[in-house]
Amino acid sequence: MVAWEERAESFATEMTRERYLVGSGRKERLELDPIYQRYGGLFSENEVRERLSRRHESPPASRYLAEFVAGGYLGNRVKVLTQRATNAMLAATVRWDGEDIPYQQVWVLLANEPDWHRRHSLDRLALEVARGINPHRKERLLRLHQEVQALGFDGYVHLYRDLLGVDFDDLSSNLDLFLEGTEECYRSQLHDLLERTGVPPEEATPADLQYLLRGKGYDRYFSSRGMVPALARTLQAMGLGRGDDFPFALDLEPRPRKSPRAFCAPVRIPEEVYLVIKPQGGREDWEAFFHEAGHAEHFSHIDARLPFPLRVLGDNDLIEVYSFHMQYRLTEPSFLRDIVGMPSDEIQPYLRLARFGKLFLLRRYVAKLRYELTLHRQGPEEAPQAYRDTLGSILGIRIAPERYLEDVDDGFYSAQYLRAWMFEAMLREFLRHELGERWWANPDSGDLLYQWWRRGQSKPLDDLLPEIGAEHLSADALLRDVME
Ligand SMILES: [Zn+2]
Repeated sequence: MVAWEERAESFATEMTRERYLVGSGRKERLELDPIYQRYGGLFSENEVRERLSRRHESPPASRYLAEFVAGGYLGNRVKVLTQRATNAMLAATVRWDGEDIPYQQVWVLLANEPDWHRRHSLDRLALEVARGINPHRKERLLRLHQEVQALGFDGYVHLYRDLLGVDFDDLSSNLDLFLEGTEECYRSQLHDLLERTGVPPEEATPADLQYLLRGKGYDRYFSSRGMVPALARTLQAMGLGRGDDFPFALDLEPRPRKSPRAFCAPVRIPEEVYLVIKPQGGREDWEAFFHEAGHAEHFSHIDARLPFPLRVLGDNDLIEVYSFHMQYRLTEPSFLRDIVGMPSDEIQPYLRLARFGKLFLLRRYVAKLRYELTLHRQGPEEAPQAYRDTLGSILGIRIAPERYLEDVDDGFYSAQYLRAWMFEAMLREFLRHELGERWWANPDSGDLLYQWWRRGQSKPLDDLLPEIGAEHLSADALLRDVME
């Protein structure tokens, strides 16, 4: 048993290290094959069947182990297809203004392109790339569905409902109220924003939102040089800081192939954690940096003595609570004033933009969850239309069906994000109530997180609700958060 867990942990380390090396631009191609070959024995059919049958014993560790083994088993079965799709995306370029732009860099250009005609042209080139990769992604999805059936589960939704202990249909219908409650406010703000930038509302696409939410006018408060010192001040205020001596490694070096999106790679927990970013500045870059810093702080603080399932594995909903909690400090007026240094008269207009950005994202994820339930129940044949219609009607903009597979994460990560958003809004209300408007500068708020971080994932998210004075996870606090 212990030997098995040691090998499982080495596998997790090697996988995360591979993702770190590729994402940070130190390695050109993703190679999962050799790792699975070395550790294939961990994910034999017998092993996965046994772990799945014992998933309800000694919770939550046995459930985390079942999810790890099932994920590894399925990942092993589709590894070649995963590599093919990922490497095709990494190698793809689009020809723009006489230059070959890496596909992954396109969204940075879209966010900075003020002419909407040009934005739409560039986006159409990117959609061509997505269309080219879709056959690989579709084959991979069909294979995943087959493998799940072969394990004796009545479909992909069923398997993940069991592994995560979340009823996705319940979650989706609970969020209907959130959609209804924000509908009017969302539509009118969207209309105003589009009008101001001259995009005809019936032509608007996600690329326009990317540009609008970029908030270039606020760049002077969110410089690329200012973000690391701001994080140091934040941790200091929480009583967790030691100047800029972070408990994780900061990878700030600009490399040509480095991912434009910040990410955290917990290679060995808690002692080897990387926060990787290509600092560009701007409000969203800061939000991404603070988000990933929340992950890095969490992983670096976990008690090294905890066993593998509670230290390295766990539910992503709780993991995302920590990162959102760090990120959404950037929507607290007192934080913007004291840490970011924004003048008082700019704070309200800024918050309107930031809250709308969050509302857009939340509605997008509710739509994604609904769509993913359809995709995994009915298969990919009619899915492009379902993707276009579901996201289009909830977001009120034009959605290109070509991203119907690119925009899907494995294992219902969308549901985990939604649960994390709900919990985090409840946590922030609780702290504000207990500690006041400047809760984030009270060491008690840091202490609460420190205690939670230390125990890794010994408790799943729902079991933490009583600690913030709540009985059920609900979207009420989230609704207040974006409607304030
Ligand atoms: Zn995250």
